[in-house]
Amino acid sequence: MMRMEGFALSHVGAIRKVNQDRAMFSNSLGAVADGMGGHKGGEQAASIVITELLAVSGPLSRERLLDVVRDANGKVVEAGLQPELQGMGTTLVAATLDVDEGRLTVVNVGDSRAYRLRGDLFEQITVDHSLVEELVQQGRISRLDAETHPKRNIVTRAIGLSDPVEIDAFDLEAQPGDRILLCSDGLINEVPVEIIAATLAEVDALAEVADRLVELAVEGGGRDNVSVVVIDLVDDEVEAPERPLDIMIAEPDFVDPNPTEPIAALWDLEPEAASNRKRTIRLVAALGAVALVALFGINWFAGNAYFASEQDGEVVIFQGRPGGVLWIDPELVQRTGIPTDELDDASIQRLDQMTQWSSRDDVDDFVQGLGRVEVGAG
Ligand code: MN
Repeated sequence: MMRMEGFALSHVGAIRKVNQDRAMFSNSLGAVADGMGGHKGGEQAASIVITELLAVSGPLSRERLLDVVRDANGKVVEAGLQPELQGMGTTLVAATLDVDEGRLTVVNVGDSRAYRLRGDLFEQITVDHSLVEELVQQGRISRLDAETHPKRNIVTRAIGLSDPVEIDAFDLEAQPGDRILLCSDGLINEVPVEIIAATLAEVDALAEVADRLVELAVEGGGRDNVSVVVIDLVDDEVEAPERPLDIMIAEPDFVDPNPTEPIAALWDLEPEAASNRKRTIRLVAALGAVALVALFGINWFAGNAYFASEQDGEVVIFQGRPGGVLWIDPELVQRTGIPTDELDDASIQRLDQMTQWSSRDDVDDFVQGLGRVEVGAG
């Protein structure tokens, strides 16, 4: 009989004071929720959803899982009626195993993600509900641009904002040996997908995989909360397949998920078509994931961003990544002379987010756009 083994881990990251992510795994049900909105709201929204899932834990049918998510959405909407929690919401990605159907169901709302490693193929299962994903699908920016786009944190769908909520559901045929990763954008934005894939393939124990992924995200800057759930599909009567040395990473090539048709077929690519869309990476078993980061152009990654921050009461501009990347610290490139105590609250919040910009012009525009409060009027 097939079942899921899993391990969930959530970490506040290197910069933020509050963890608004929640993650759970219990009895063949795993989920990640990335809360957003307000001071307390994000944490609340994510907590409500994860608490609901923990209450029903167990292998669920697809319909049951969807029902639970719809109910949880209603609860967040209701809680959000309180003035101090207004506008709160959360992403949700959840996976369960329908044992009778031999089916893995993944549901998604927002920009947290599910990936699958099967044999030597690493694939993204979910489609982000985000502004940049829409721009990519419209052909307006490339997938590479999306990775550093200044507005990549804008989510177009979330739990708790409206009732009913539109939920994507993906059905995949479950196979023993499949390894599933659920994660928040705090992992995706800090760790290249090659490293994520390599870590899943290279490290055996689920808890250790989760630990390493979180560690990589924190070392990569840790600007956001980071959550991971790592799941293995196991069948005690079937021997686990060997982990391959060559991992193919499928380039995301999505169509809208159709809830009535299993998406599994989407992944059974023609061999020729498939080879065009996949990158192969070779894992060198002797290298840890951290060393692999170096191979993938750590210098480029570390220097290829700008952000604005506060230093000694002044708005300053850094080149690099907030918190640095491994041994490379961000470099102060300009003091703007703008005192932070003249900024309005919204601008201070925007500054606190340490959004990364892909060019000097963008960060300059951002700084120019910061609003000032009237000084000395009263
Ligand atoms: Mn996040």
